[in-house]
Amino acid sequence: MTLIPGDGVGPEVAEATRRAVDALCAGVEWDVHDAGLPAIETFGTPLPDHVMDSIKATGVALKGPVTTPVGGGFRSVNVALRQELDLFASVRPCRIYPGVPSRFEDVDIVIVRENTEDLYEGIEFEQGTPELNKLRGYLKYMHGFRLAEDAGVSVKPISITATKAIVDYAFHYARRNSRAKVLLGHKANIMKFSDGIWLATAEERAGHYTDIGFEAMQVDELAMWLAWYPQEQDVIVLPNLYGDIISDLCAGLIGGLGVAPGMNLGHDHAVFEPTHGSAPDIAGRGIANPIAMILSAVLMLAHIGQDDAAARLELGVARVLADGKVRTADLGPAGPPATTAEVADAVVAATDSK
Ligand code: ATP
Repeated sequence: MTLIPGDGVGPEVAEATRRAVDALCAGVEWDVHDAGLPAIETFGTPLPDHVMDSIKATGVALKGPVTTPVGGGFRSVNVALRQELDLFASVRPCRIYPGVPSRFEDVDIVIVRENTEDLYEGIEFEQGTPELNKLRGYLKYMHGFRLAEDAGVSVKPISITATKAIVDYAFHYARRNSRAKVLLGHKANIMKFSDGIWLATAEERAGHYTDIGFEAMQVDELAMWLAWYPQEQDVIVLPNLYGDIISDLCAGLIGGLGVAPGMNLGHDHAVFEPTHGSAPDIAGRGIANPIAMILSAVLMLAHIGQDDAAARLELGVARVLADGKVRTADLGPAGPPATTAEVADAVVAATDSK
């Protein structure tokens, strides 16, 4: 398994996770590589080729957060991984574990987010540039559209091919994980030709999965239901931008970024990582919550077929959370907050070793 500790709080939560996984005696062997700021210092690039080679060889990586420095011309590591490994699906299980402070109980939602296109494809026209002036002229001449002189423009492509891939993935995920329903978020009434394709393609695909329920809902209405009755939601599939926003909303429903795991999946590779970023405000102090990364390792173990180890580790985490005595500051402990290492110790102690 490739292990990328990352930067910021990454090395701290990665070390805690490695200890928790090693204690399972599940035979996981790590191929550890730096990426992000430590790799820039050593190799002059945030994502050296040998890191990519390692993931291509192992097929699976567990990764801490990685910062892209502003300026310096470095390409985002996350974008590079996504594009080169064709990680088309970002999956965020959002489940409340008993004992975690939250406004709700029984939330168990899985967000499946399309990861390759939509407004994140990077087709951008800067305000005032000759390129945008040309586009403005074309749109006015050919279609009578008026773009404000002081507007900037981002283009939103959504294809049938990418929609099919992610919707099929969502249905397969639902089937494999005994989920009853896939709900599709869209805004097809406004964006007829991008979200319109998204909706029409999904409706067509849903016909192939009659054992799983399907519903389409406008994403604004979905946001309202999530804030009101999140317990009623199951698997939710979303295009890139809505998926980004709604998955952070759902992280908030289940106790925050410190407990929200994630995975990015392609046909041949998978990268498992916590939802949170490098949290520079608390980095280096040993106080970051490692649970999000440990739960990402649970997803990784399940992905590689180590279902028993995944279940044991998840149960260990659930016991620590339910017990509530050993908690980092973000989870509002009753007593003094625990350190990252103390949470790792508690998870190891609460996990059945075989
Ligand atoms: P990015 O742009 O990389 O997403 P960010 O600073 O916007 O970074 P995060 O790094 O995820 O977002 O941090 C957001 C907030 O959540 C910060 O206040 C941070 O301290 C807190 N936070 C993030 N991860 C953790 C964690 N594992 N444990 C405790 N607090 C965390």
